[in-house]
Amino acid sequence: MKSFENIDVKSVKEAVGLLQRFHNEKKSAAVVGGGSELLQLMKDRVATPDYLINLKTIPGLSYIKEERSAFRIGALTTLTEIEEHKGVQEKLLFLSQAAGEAASPQIRNAGTIGGNICQRPFCWYFRSANFTCLRKGGEICYAVAGDNRYHAIFGGGPSYIVHPSDMAPPLVAVGAQLKIAGPAGEKVIPLEKFFVLPQVNHTRENILGPGEIVTEIQVPHPKAGTKGFYHKVRERLAWDHAIVSVSTVLQTQGGAVREGRVVLGGVAPTPWRVPKAEQFLRGKKVDENTAQKAGEIALEGARPMKDNIYKVALAKSLIQRALLASV
Ligand SMILES: Cc1cc2nc3c(=O)[nH]c(=O)nc-3n(C[C@H](O)[C@H](O)[C@H](O)COP(=O)(O)OP(=O)(O)OC[C@H]3O[C@@H](n4cnc5c(N)ncnc54)[C@H](O)[C@@H]3O)c2cc1C
Ligand code: SF4
Repeated sequence: MKSFENIDVKSVKEAVGLLQRFHNEKKSAAVVGGGSELLQLMKDRVATPDYLINLKTIPGLSYIKEERSAFRIGALTTLTEIEEHKGVQEKLLFLSQAAGEAASPQIRNAGTIGGNICQRPFCWYFRSANFTCLRKGGEICYAVAGDNRYHAIFGGGPSYIVHPSDMAPPLVAVGAQLKIAGPAGEKVIPLEKFFVLPQVNHTRENILGPGEIVTEIQVPHPKAGTKGFYHKVRERLAWDHAIVSVSTVLQTQGGAVREGRVVLGGVAPTPWRVPKAEQFLRGKKVDENTAQKAGEIALEGARPMKDNIYKVALAKSLIQRALLASV
C-alpha cells in the first residue's frame, strides 16, 4: 500500500473543505467510511490517495430516524444496523433483507450505506493493478475481448461494469432520495439520478463532484397496499456480489397493480429500472402469465456479451419470481 496521511475530520463542513482544498491543490484525496471496499483497492494499489479523509470521526452521521413519511438514514449507518432495525424490518423488509445479503457479516458490521452506494466496480480488470483500463484512464476496456461473464448486458459501452451495490436496486425501487453536501451547500436528489452510465462518464459511477460527499439517504414509507421483494443470485453463498439481483416494489389495489417499480442489479453500470415492464404491469393482476410476460418485456433490448448470455434467462426468471412474491 502506498503511504498516505489519515485525517480524522470532526464535521461534514471540514470534510468538504479539505476535499475542495486538495482538489484545488491537485492532490489526491479520498473519503473513507467503513473502509471495507476502499482499503482493499488501496492494498492492491488501484487507489493511491495521498490523503484519506476519515468520515467515521464525524459525530452524528450514523442514525436511522423514523419520521412521519420517511426514514432518514445517516451515511455512516452500517449495513448491519439497517438489517437489524425494527422499523425498517416492519416497513421495508426487502431493504433489511438486501442489507443482510451484502458481503459477509464482518463487512456488513463495518461497511456503511454511504460507502455501499459509492463503492467502485468489482470488474476484475479494474481491480488488478496490472490493467490500466479505460475506467482507470487507459485506452482499452479489457472486458470486451476478455472474460466478461460478470459484465453488463444493459447500458454498457465504452466500459461494461455492473454496479456492485446490493442496496442501490431496492433503494431506487422504493424511490429513495440522497442528500449530498458539497462546496455549494446541500442538495437532495432522487437516488436514481445519482448513478451515471459510461457513455456519460466512463471513469466514474456517480455524479459526485469535487468536494461532495453523501450525508443521508431518505427512504419514503411505502404507500398502503405496497409490498417489496429483493432477491439476489450469487456464485458463492458465503459472500459474493450479485450476478443478477432484482428488487420489486408494487402497490396493488383490488388485486391489480396500481404502480410499481422493477429494478435489476448486476446487469448494468447503474441500478437498472425496466420502465416498459413497469408500464405493462399497471392495472394488471400479477399471476404466472403476467409475471412471465413482464420478465420478457424487461429483457427486451438486452445486449449480452460473449460470456454472459446466461444473465438474460436468469434475470427473466428472477423478475417472474419477484413479481409473484410481491403481491
Ligand atoms: C470481499 C468483499 C465482498 C463484498 N461484497 C459485497 C456485496 O455482496 N454486496 C455489496 O453491496 N457490497 C459488497 N462489498 C462492497 C462494500 O465493502 C460494502 O458494500 C460496504 O457497504 C462499503 O461501505 P464502506 O463504508 O466500507 O465503504 P468504504 O470502503 O469506506 O468506501 C467505499 C467507496 O465509497 C466512497 N465513500 C464512502 N463513504 C462515502 C460518502 N459518505 N460519500 C461519498 N463517498 C463515500 C469511498 O471514497 C470509496 O470510494 C464487498 C466488499 C468486499 C471487500
Ligand atoms: S468494464 Fe470498465 S472497469 Fe472493466 S475493464 Fe472495461 S473499462 Fe475497465
